[in-house]
Amino acid sequence: MILIEPNMDKFHHRTKRIEYEITESGCWECVSHSKDSSGYPMISRNGTFWKGHRYSYTLFKGNIPEDLVIRHTCDNPACINPDHLILGTQKDNVQDMLERNRFRDAKGDKNPNFKDFDLAAIDNDYQNGMKIVDIFAKHGISKTHFYRLIKEGKINKRK
Ligand SMILES: [Zn+2]
Repeated sequence: MILIEPNMDKFHHRTKRIEYEITESGCWECVSHSKDSSGYPMISRNGTFWKGHRYSYTLFKGNIPEDLVIRHTCDNPACINPDHLILGTQKDNVQDMLERNRFRDAKGDKNPNFKDFDLAAIDNDYQNGMKIVDIFAKHGISKTHFYRLIKEGKINKRK
């Protein structure tokens, strides 16, 4: 899918369009742009670098007040679905993170959208010839995510 941006028909031909894939949870995961260390896609528009979710929010919902941040209701930093974006304070953000960690510790499982899969274990299973569908099941990882990890070099290609 290509993100519809106002005026995109007037963009310079070298302007990189924003492409995304819709996940099972309804996230629009940006697949066209490289991500920063926190997993936010970095999008260059009008001489400025935007984090993908902030760009999307500005595009679809309006300006972001200076003292507020944009939060993901889905915990997926690559997501640019405006329906998954809400305004919040920096304090909310920290609170979210604390609750998420506590929740995960208590449940002992992981949100499949969250990026801290056990990459070493996945890589190991993959290199040892485990069937890909079994890897998806065992690690709770989606096909899209798995291939993205390979593309990003976080999992090695099978020899
Ligand atoms: Zn989302």
